[in-house]
Amino acid sequence: MTGKNTFKNFAHALFIPTEDPSISVAQCSALSRLVPLMYFILVVNSWMLAASFWHQAPFWLTFYVSSGLTVVCGLRLAVWWRSQGKLLTPARAKRELRRLPIMTAILAVAFTSWAIALFPYGDEQAKGHVVFYLTISLISTMFCLIHGRYSALILAAIAGTSVVLFLLWQDSRTSYAIALNITLVTVASAIVIRIQSRDFIRMVNAQTRTAALSDENFILANLDSLTKLPNRRAFFSRLDVAYNQAERTNTRLALGVIDLDGFKPVNDLYGHTVGDRLLVEVATRLESSFCNDTLIFARLGGDEFAFIITDAADNDTLRKLGSEICAALGLPFVLPEATVQISGSIGVAVYPEMATSPAQLYEHADYALYHGKATQRGTAMLFSAQHEQKLNREARIEQTMKFANLDTELSVVFQPIVDMHSRKTLGFEALARWESPLIGNVSPTQFIPIAERAGIIGSLTRPLLRKALTAAATWPEGLRLSFNLSAHDLNTPENVLAVIAIIETGCFDPRRLDLEITETAFLHDFELVRQSIEMLRLMGCGVSLDDFGTGYSSFSRLHALPLTKIKIDRSFISGIDRNPTAYKIVKSLLALSRDMNLECIVEGVETHGEADALRTLGKVMAQGYFYSPPIAATAAADFACEGAAKKPSSHP
Ligand code: C2E
Ligand code: CA
Ligand code: CA
Repeated sequence: MTGKNTFKNFAHALFIPTEDPSISVAQCSALSRLVPLMYFILVVNSWMLAASFWHQAPFWLTFYVSSGLTVVCGLRLAVWWRSQGKLLTPARAKRELRRLPIMTAILAVAFTSWAIALFPYGDEQAKGHVVFYLTISLISTMFCLIHGRYSALILAAIAGTSVVLFLLWQDSRTSYAIALNITLVTVASAIVIRIQSRDFIRMVNAQTRTAALSDENFILANLDSLTKLPNRRAFFSRLDVAYNQAERTNTRLALGVIDLDGFKPVNDLYGHTVGDRLLVEVATRLESSFCNDTLIFARLGGDEFAFIITDAADNDTLRKLGSEICAALGLPFVLPEATVQISGSIGVAVYPEMATSPAQLYEHADYALYHGKATQRGTAMLFSAQHEQKLNREARIEQTMKFANLDTELSVVFQPIVDMHSRKTLGFEALARWESPLIGNVSPTQFIPIAERAGIIGSLTRPLLRKALTAAATWPEGLRLSFNLSAHDLNTPENVLAVIAIIETGCFDPRRLDLEITETAFLHDFELVRQSIEMLRLMGCGVSLDDFGTGYSSFSRLHALPLTKIKIDRSFISGIDRNPTAYKIVKSLLALSRDMNLECIVEGVETHGEADALRTLGKVMAQGYFYSPPIAATAAADFACEGAAKKPSSHP
């Protein structure tokens, strides 16, 4: 390396503030421990010098100027002191690192000029104190700025040069000698600082590279490799810090969980590369539009993002911010391969009113998200008192279910599936009922999702399937049985084998059995679910896609599955006789199912008008209160014989 290059590198290392965010954050947090000490030393040293000159220099110079400098230092000390242990964003770290050299330059000029201004008033001892003060303050402050090497060098340049020039101006042999000493010590200190600073940067980089082993305090170890946002681990450790801080300072802390609606179809349709690119774009959009000193985003995994807001505003402002984030995510993403549109749902919980621990804050935000997605996709939902009540009720259901005797407490009812034209009963759908001696009747819309989330759905599916098959075995030949499987019943080979074993040992012909699955099954491992369906098909069972139209599956994916029927969700059927759009949608869904060689059942037919409208769409099977509500197993065979035609149900 040439001498010129060495100088260039040296100058570069000293002058150019690092652009690496993780290093800026590490430097800034290291400085936040040393800079308060620096101000403290400066103030104490200055008052000691002022004391030496108390009756020699004018009062304004010893008292007022020292007081002014003390106030400025005190304010800066408070700023740095308060930043200790706080969440530090790369943007904020960079800002502080840019501000530090300016403050250093101003204070270096101020303190040096003040000390030199005192000099002429003092006796020999006091003059010696000035030189001592300048030297000791220079060296100690330089070392306190060790992690802000740019500032340390500015200090050396301004204060060091001023002191040396001042000493040379004194024109004595002693002052020349001291000037030489100070020059040497200052240059040596600059070199030591440079070496230390370089080692510090290397250490941060090394810790980043060995992310798994490195200290959690170093930001890069905690970045999501795809989006470069903090990852799940970093998010929860930051949450802990933010929570403690909110507790200490009595401030509000908000936690938001974001789930992308429609990400999966993009991934399915265009492949993982496009999916990954979309996630990166989402992260960039979130960061560039909303990130600030108090708001940090993270990627928790998959298409789930989250944010923490320290010093959070009131609930209305949070709702507004949530809606703005949803609106931003709803704008199209222009990717090289395609322009795609998704939306985001957000759940938010706030400390202190909505949670008493960091884990609960996250759980409650997640719960608000879960509910928001069920009721109003694409919006932001704040955890509320109603959510709290629901959560408690669900916890009670879950606990009761875990200790219940499911074999005796569960039962099955059967809802007829009829041919709309002939009114002939073609089969029945088995629907679960649970009567708990402790909490009474619980609806399957409540206990099935709870059992799924608690991972115990298998222990419900097994007795229900056995009971449904046993009841159906007594029906006349020709009647079919539909049984609902949960996604969890298909997503491991053990679970699907348990279902197969029950069907094989039951006395109902598997060829008369239809197993209903919903599109949520494909949110798990698609290939595994496809294999499970194939196994069921090999046994002769039919497989129906339930609640069709409410999910997000791409048709290419549906096509890849050996389905036999689709069941059009009742949300499309409700008011179909009065709603031309719903009519057109159902018409096209029927055409699509015919094209795909699939039979079709319309669900939730409630009125005469709906039944009449649906009949105009050709051959279709139907289910709904108009024909019959779910009925007891013992009544099913009679219902089938009498026929639905005789007495359409008046059930709501
Ligand atoms: P699903 O599979 O879509 O079942 C149809 C639901 O719609 C049933 O509710 C049925 O009583 C109701 N229904 C039928 N006709 C009408 C109508 O005309 N109007 C209205 N508004 N509703 C109608 P149910 O029995 O409360 O079951 C709710 C859900 O719970 C089921 O929806 C299914 O997802 C789940 N479920 C029920 N039994 C089982 C089961 O044994 N296993 C699993 N995994 N899930 C089950
Ligand atoms: Ca069903
Ligand atoms: Ca359904």
